[in-house]
Amino acid sequence: MINASLKELAAALASKQISSVELTQLFLDRIVRLNPEINAYVTLDSDKSLAQAAAADALIAQGKAGPLTGIPVAQKDIFCAKGWRTTCGSKMLANFTAPYDAHIISQFDAAGAVNLGKTNMDEFAMGSSNETSFFGKVQNPWDRARVPGGSSGGSAAAVAARMAPAATGTDTGGSIRQPASLCGLSGLKPTYGVCSRYGMIAFASSLDQAGPMAKSAEDLALMMNVMAGFDSRDSTSLQREKEDYTRDLAKPLAGLRIGLPKEYFAEGLDAGVAKVVEEAIAQYRKLGAETVEISLPNTQLSIPVYYVLAPAEASSNLSRYDGVRYGHRAAEYTDLMDMYCKTRAEGFGAEVKRRIMVGTYVLSAGYYDAYYLKAQQLRRLIAQDFEQAFRQCDVIMGPAAPGTAFKAGEKTDDPVAMYLEDLYTIAVNLAGLPGMSVPAGFANGLPVGLQVIGNYFDEARMLNVGHAYQQVTDWHTRMPEGI
Ligand code: GLN
Repeated sequence: MINASLKELAAALASKQISSVELTQLFLDRIVRLNPEINAYVTLDSDKSLAQAAAADALIAQGKAGPLTGIPVAQKDIFCAKGWRTTCGSKMLANFTAPYDAHIISQFDAAGAVNLGKTNMDEFAMGSSNETSFFGKVQNPWDRARVPGGSSGGSAAAVAARMAPAATGTDTGGSIRQPASLCGLSGLKPTYGVCSRYGMIAFASSLDQAGPMAKSAEDLALMMNVMAGFDSRDSTSLQREKEDYTRDLAKPLAGLRIGLPKEYFAEGLDAGVAKVVEEAIAQYRKLGAETVEISLPNTQLSIPVYYVLAPAEASSNLSRYDGVRYGHRAAEYTDLMDMYCKTRAEGFGAEVKRRIMVGTYVLSAGYYDAYYLKAQQLRRLIAQDFEQAFRQCDVIMGPAAPGTAFKAGEKTDDPVAMYLEDLYTIAVNLAGLPGMSVPAGFANGLPVGLQVIGNYFDEARMLNVGHAYQQVTDWHTRMPEGI
């Protein structure tokens, strides 16, 4: 059961081979055994999970089950879930119980899925290693001394260690794709605006996007069917017809044009990772795809642009944590200003403070034009690179991350080295495009992800591209030893 696909789990539930209560208990038992070390979950509530499972069993008995009814899903702790502690990995929200459901959570509820627990993450989703969480670092199940990637590292470790069949993540600059790559999973960041951000704790609102993390592309498609869709409560949610993301899974790939950006295979890419990615691309040629060299000339600008814009938006979004209405409040203070200062000094970790300071600086009157405005202009150029590229190809491929999972502590003293983890993912967020990572092999004994970037709203095709590859390879079925 722990290796089963979502489709297999749905079939097992439908045929009464297992009940949702039993399935949920099976995963809860694994969590009890593995989580004390891996630390993928920060909040569990087995009573709530099992009650949802019992309700799902009732639906199944009445013949009213949908594709995810009764299936346990781990939720990144960035999504507000009514009655659940929702921390965003921060001391600031360590005692915050959400009074309402994020849109994504209510979509899973409506589908009859079971909330298995809230997963660990970098504080306010700022990080690439899950080491900035107030609740401690997460271990990579493939090598416990290494990081799972971030910021959705808890979700990634939970699925990789088979402590959940699937999970949600969010991706502002790579936080679904990079941990998926480092943990040997499939992960999809949809087109900006496809999944509602309502009730998803804001980091950088023009970049944040929710998406699924699972073992296979087919599982991602089933998750997307639940997660995607218009929501009037998010002003950037796109009003589009409901899609069936599984519709193109079985299409042949003959004639597919794959763009290979020369900037993605240049300096900074680990040789072992390059080899795996090149082998994956060779596999696509065997499947009938053609490759064409393309250029994304502004790739090098994406990290500097992001580290102006994301902190700017974060500094504004995080101003709400003032100790007045909810979240942490300093125990002792002399006046209102002192209360604000002490609350924020105590409640935020170092990386969050760094971002707030950078963001406040680039937005300040004297520097706004030089940094923030300039970064906005460059963001447009980065998006235009992709517009150009998609005239020559249907999808773009390259590495998801420049290397494999690194050792815990290895990059904590060097923020810039940490920021470079997102060299190949950030531009996709800046352009608002969809991006996916699928397991493509191993380098240095650790998983490597192939990134597939699609044009706007081309998720169904990307999932087809992932699925076709997973029909002829078995990297996505590999599981870490000893768990
Ligand atoms: N690693 C990037 C950052 O630290 C991206 C994080 C994310 O996608 N949430 O901001």
